[in-house]
Amino acid sequence: MGFELDRFKGTVDPDFKCNLCNKVLEDPLTTPCGHVFCSGCVLPWVVQQNSCPVKCQRISAKELNHVLPLRNLILKLEIKCDNHARGCDAVVTLQHLAEHAETCDFSPAKCGNRGCEEVVSARDLDAHMREACEHRAAGICEGGCGLTLTLREQKSSGHCCKHADIKKFQVFQLDFKFLRWFFSCVETDLFPKLQRKLYFAS
Ligand SMILES: [Zn+2]
Ligand SMILES: [Zn+2]
Ligand SMILES: [Zn+2]
Ligand SMILES: [Zn+2]
Ligand SMILES: [Zn+2]
Repeated sequence: MGFELDRFKGTVDPDFKCNLCNKVLEDPLTTPCGHVFCSGCVLPWVVQQNSCPVKCQRISAKELNHVLPLRNLILKLEIKCDNHARGCDAVVTLQHLAEHAETCDFSPAKCGNRGCEEVVSARDLDAHMREACEHRAAGICEGGCGLTLTLREQKSSGHCCKHADIKKFQVFQLDFKFLRWFFSCVETDLFPKLQRKLYFAS
């Protein structure tokens, strides 16, 4: 498949177009009959049909040849970055497109926080992961389990803390121990007096 025509500056020479995809030739191959197509367009066609796509003669894939001078001319054309729609204004020669894409600030980058599916521009990735992402680490669980919670878990209390239950149980146990101690005091010293008081009161 070739390069979309609207990505090039100005009008593109018709000789640079592929007869199959009608876009600017990508890695052009020529048939023995002199027709030129992108390699990605013509190879599957010839393998299946054993003929030139313009239906002039029967050919095999072995008979297709690279057209280096044409390829070199096309590589000199100026093209908009793949990330033009994402905001990149760079226009580079086709030859340098791959090189630019590697360092383009607008390349799509997937958020690295677990559970986040968001794709942002490379230049915004850091800010997204640290400031905007709902799945970023926001702090340690206050229930006491020691787990790091994401912002989303904190906001929606989506973390069902096992430790919180244990803590409630421990508080209950403490209360129980206190009551046992209290009653043991009551039994030994105060309780008989209290009992007597109650007895005489009734
Ligand atoms: Zn093509
Ligand atoms: Zn032909
Ligand atoms: Zn770019
Ligand atoms: Zn994210
Ligand atoms: Zn917890």
